[in-house]
Amino acid sequence: MPVSRTLTSGLVLAAMLLGSTALAQPVKPAKAAQPFDRTVTLNDHQQPAIPRPRQEAGAQAKLDAFVARTGQRPNIVWLVVDDMGWGDPGSYGGGAAIGAATPNMDRLAAGGLRLTSTYAQQTCTPSRSAILTGRLPVRTGLTRPILAGDRITANPWDTEVSLPTLLNKAGYNTLLVGKWHIGEKEGMRPHDVGFKEFYGFYSAQKEITQGLDGTRYPDLVNRPGSLAAYGDLGNEIDLMHGWAGGRTEVAVPTRSTKDMAEADLRLRDFTVARIAQLAAKDEPFFIEHAFMKVHTDNYASAKFTGASAAGWPYKDALVEVDSIIGDIVAALDAAGELDKTFIFVTSDNGPQMDMWPDSGFSPFRGAKGTTWEGGVRVPGIAYWPGMIEPGQVSDDLFDLMDLFNTSLRLAGATGSLPQDRYIDGIDQTSFLLTKGGETLREHVYFWMNTTLMAMRMHELKIHQHVVVNNGSPFLWIDMATVQDVGTAPWLFNLYLNPKEDYTVGHRMSAWLATMGAEMRQHGATFVKYPPKNIGL
Ligand code: CA
Repeated sequence: MPVSRTLTSGLVLAAMLLGSTALAQPVKPAKAAQPFDRTVTLNDHQQPAIPRPRQEAGAQAKLDAFVARTGQRPNIVWLVVDDMGWGDPGSYGGGAAIGAATPNMDRLAAGGLRLTSTYAQQTCTPSRSAILTGRLPVRTGLTRPILAGDRITANPWDTEVSLPTLLNKAGYNTLLVGKWHIGEKEGMRPHDVGFKEFYGFYSAQKEITQGLDGTRYPDLVNRPGSLAAYGDLGNEIDLMHGWAGGRTEVAVPTRSTKDMAEADLRLRDFTVARIAQLAAKDEPFFIEHAFMKVHTDNYASAKFTGASAAGWPYKDALVEVDSIIGDIVAALDAAGELDKTFIFVTSDNGPQMDMWPDSGFSPFRGAKGTTWEGGVRVPGIAYWPGMIEPGQVSDDLFDLMDLFNTSLRLAGATGSLPQDRYIDGIDQTSFLLTKGGETLREHVYFWMNTTLMAMRMHELKIHQHVVVNNGSPFLWIDMATVQDVGTAPWLFNLYLNPKEDYTVGHRMSAWLATMGAEMRQHGATFVKYPPKNIGL
């Protein structure tokens, strides 16, 4: 065997070089203990990370070579779908198999790194604020979606530092297109809190369409008094255009569900046009393109009505979103920016099964609004031709909050990371840019409002105190109940039981107590850095 011959001759050569005569037999190396928790704590205000010095050095060299070659920092483009399930894209097992082909997402997945354990928060506002601050919702106060009629008691942004604010300082043009959902009052709008430009909607689709669709909401829409009262809540439903400094205009009024049906194509046109304009400038750009679809209520656009094999509005919407992703990538390519752009495709939470049958798909237990895998595990596709090796799949842990730190690193602005607050994100640049790279994240924590519900480490997930149960087969928000876990935390092995329905508990795992202790350590970070309450 050539391989063992090489090994043997290598050992003999080593023995000769060392002048040793005792190396006749290869010595079995002692197995180095791999700690269960491999992280190192650098300081008390940052999520501990797994040190990977070799991987780090390689990624830095790659990034330095990119900057030397192109003379610029990379563009950053996030494509954030609303409420798309882990199982929706074809590359995650859905696609044509469930009646809505997603060739564009699948092409990006095949041409880049497909992450199978990417985690979001369990609902919209928490996820969207977490990726822009690198901080858990319980720290920023944005613990649940802001809904029509909510009266929050403090502007969380007064004391938060957003990613676009830091990227502006690093010389980027920053743009949010599409859904915001982190407040619409003056001082809370995207162009008030860092983005140089905003073109989109302040709230989720349903917050808009429930005042427009008399078929679905007859007791609101067909009663003038009720509709007027709803209008008095002051929710802006139009497609807005805003600029840093405060100037804000209605770009397109929303008068009917038809306007909403066409909204994502309007947003696409805007992003595609801006890519050409921003590419002509010297500065790199950061674009968060946040789809309105496939959040309920879905109304198919004229172009995409019946475009899916399934023929339901959600499925048509998914085909549309996928097509738009293709258009945005094509626009980057046409502008000569594709190989200078880090693209990340994801969803802000799991599918909203309450809206079944017009809803997404996850093979996991639970749905949006829960910390079961179905609520928090989302697609995560990292794509960057020439910088991210194509055809890779990794089940290493990635939290969407890591996009905060990672984007700062790509921008060469890691030094601007806030030091006066706890940052939950981890810089995962080296994981993404290294062929066969490994995660720097050991823990993913799952919060629901102000309760720490669960934690994942390796393939294990512990539910410490309470779990959410569905009220009927698909109702994971309405009628859902909270159940105490009983005398022992529920511990699942996600490799053996990805559906989290049969605990391995203390019977089949040695790590129950360790997992509990790790979770308590996370809780302890709130002593020095207490949670913020904004009245949600
Ligand atoms: Ca969402």
